[in-house]
Amino acid sequence: MSETSNHLVAVYPGSFDPITNGHLDLVERCAPLVDRLVVAVLRNAHKNPLFSLEERVEMLREVLQPFPNVEIDSFDGLLVDYARHKKAQLLLRGIRAISDYEYELQMALMNRRLAPEIETMFMMAGEAYSFLSSKLVKEVIGLGGNISGLVPPSVEARLKQRFPGVG
Ligand code: ADP
Repeated sequence: MSETSNHLVAVYPGSFDPITNGHLDLVERCAPLVDRLVVAVLRNAHKNPLFSLEERVEMLREVLQPFPNVEIDSFDGLLVDYARHKKAQLLLRGIRAISDYEYELQMALMNRRLAPEIETMFMMAGEAYSFLSSKLVKEVIGLGGNISGLVPPSVEARLKQRFPGVG
């Protein structure tokens, strides 16, 4: 077998601000299916992130350290250019509810137009996490709600530092 043939590489792009147990569940389910899974944090998000790029990458490294075939990286510019650079054949995205579908479909079709050789693969959120988003976690902890079980413990600790006096 040559080095590149049958070597399946997937890129899982996102904001990961911060990683939640929903993201983690997707990584856990996808990592065994591919040779390499690159979790890539989008750098130039026009959203105003709570955590810096470095912090988001650090949290991903902490949480995903047990997965030997998972790599953490960041990127800006076109996702398909980045995926080509990583020699990836797959883009991984998660679908929680119908509300995700429209945006994800639009992105997947645009990416296919830009790079027909790269396939977008959708995985359904785990039942326990289908309501879960980074945004909601930040809102809940910001208002003093309990977020345990929604994010990995190390992420929960960081969120508590960010919102002192809560939890
Ligand atoms: P983006 O800003 O690109 O949507 P996110 O970090 O919010 O970045 O999400 C990255 C990907 O992970 C998206 O495909 C999103 O649908 C998926 N995702 C987010 N939360 C969950 C979850 N709870 N379960 C499954 N997939 C999720």
